[in-house]
Amino acid sequence: MKGKSAAVIGSGIAGLAAAIRLAVKGFDVTVFEAAAEPGGKMGEKTILGYRFDTGPSIFTMPQLIDELFQLCGKNPRDYINYQKLNPVFNYFYEDGTVINAPHGAEKFAEEIASKTTEEKETVLRFLQACETKYKLTHKVFLERSLHKPLNYLNYETLYGVLNFGKIQAFKTMNEANHRQFKDPRVIQLFNRYASYNGSNPFSAPATLNVIAHIEINMGAYFPVGGMYSVISALYKLAAEMGVDFKFNTVVSSIITANGKATGLRTAETAYPFDIVVSNMDVFNTYQDLIPDAPKPKLTLRQPKSSSVIVFYWGIMKMFPELGLHNIFFSRSDKEEFHYVFEKNRVFADPTVYVHVSSKVNESDAPEGCENWFVMVTVPNNSGQDWDRFVRLTRKNVIAKLNTALKTDVQPLIGCEAILDPRRIEAETFSAFGAVFGNASNSPYSAFLRHPNFSSKIKNLYFCGGSVHPGPGIPLCLLSAKIATDLVK
Ligand SMILES: Cc1cc2nc3c(=O)[nH]c(=O)nc-3n(C[C@H](O)[C@H](O)[C@H](O)COP(=O)(O)OP(=O)(O)OC[C@H]3O[C@@H](n4cnc5c(N)ncnc54)[C@H](O)[C@@H]3O)c2cc1C
Repeated sequence: MKGKSAAVIGSGIAGLAAAIRLAVKGFDVTVFEAAAEPGGKMGEKTILGYRFDTGPSIFTMPQLIDELFQLCGKNPRDYINYQKLNPVFNYFYEDGTVINAPHGAEKFAEEIASKTTEEKETVLRFLQACETKYKLTHKVFLERSLHKPLNYLNYETLYGVLNFGKIQAFKTMNEANHRQFKDPRVIQLFNRYASYNGSNPFSAPATLNVIAHIEINMGAYFPVGGMYSVISALYKLAAEMGVDFKFNTVVSSIITANGKATGLRTAETAYPFDIVVSNMDVFNTYQDLIPDAPKPKLTLRQPKSSSVIVFYWGIMKMFPELGLHNIFFSRSDKEEFHYVFEKNRVFADPTVYVHVSSKVNESDAPEGCENWFVMVTVPNNSGQDWDRFVRLTRKNVIAKLNTALKTDVQPLIGCEAILDPRRIEAETFSAFGAVFGNASNSPYSAFLRHPNFSSKIKNLYFCGGSVHPGPGIPLCLLSAKIATDLVK
């Protein structure tokens, strides 16, 4: 294999993982990245002494990161360490209820039973069903290409097919959660997991309840040094494995000949390669890099996921009632998701996520201060007046936090940066500024994302949140594994 060359377009987490895996396979790997730094959506910025992770903050399944180091014969602990979170989330409701959600089904169910009208046993039964869904789907769906017929001929898939009813693919998350629980606060808590992949719990299949299992039963973690430490560690590993990085370099097209990818072009140069892996959003890969190739129209036409507005605030005070992850719920998730997915507008009372990494990584904020990452779910970019929506959202978020925290947040904001769908689109080449590729709002779009290979162009592969098996750090890492496992 030595001497074969591979190009990876993009150094998002999936691009880095694909580059490392290809280097392990013996390829000479070059990563082309438009930005000046690796990481894509998983970035980092520092303003006036406050450090912010710009994208992901909820981190599960760290074993998938460790696996990359082990593949390279390295000890992951020499590069990156994680802390297991307990409690995982603080949930604040409009009626004053506060749930401090601990790790582990037993303790979680006890906390829910003590703060709501649900029985502990009901919560445990629900989490057990989420675990069953995970067991039925992860080998079949998350760890393999669904687009290769041979992958259906094995015990796990047969078992999955025989138990298909249990994954509740044809029931929505909200229907399943409603059937299980009577307390609207608990339904809202579990519905919220749809936003982890930019979907609508009122239409997304209840199979997505596996996310609750991954976070509550398997556990959430936080990397020592913050989320960007994961990117720094993978970048270091890739460089040690001989991967060459070309930053500030936009790929303008993929070169093809006789139905094969044979290289790529930047503004200055054409580069020959034996294989090409695109970590660029698959919609934009087709549109911009291979405009003449036949397009998988049905997949590319699926509605896109939601996007986000994030306020990065340096807060000149400490709030003991906040933890690392905090949710301030909307009074109506039904209306909120209706605004985001049907009306394409921002909702006046959004669910607000406040992530404060300085709670565990003290150096992320000056003494006596906190770094708040304040995020709400919004529609993807279809040309709305985002300046107005950002202004409105900022006002509504501050009003909501003022009430919940019984304080005036505005004068505490010492510095600010803002992310909105336009910037996500421009900075990471994500179609329509959607954070998670296609929305998983139907069984088709949830299970049949674009494959990790091109069926029309040989030697062209895809990884990242816009393709199979989906978005978020764990699935992006699995997309890189599936794509590179397909490389012969
Ligand atoms: C605000 C926010 C919060 C999130 N929260 C979470 C969370 O808590 N937990 C979680 O698991 N996930 C979260 N996510 C989702 C997660 O960040 C993404 O699913 C994941 O990081 C996507 O990685 P990726 O490998 O698909 O590539 P991306 O991060 O999208 O990176 C693609 C890279 O390719 C480069 N590129 C694209 N086109 C070209 C080209 N033509 N030439 C050169 N370079 C190119 C881009 O510059 C970019 O660096 C969040 C995302 C955002 C934005």
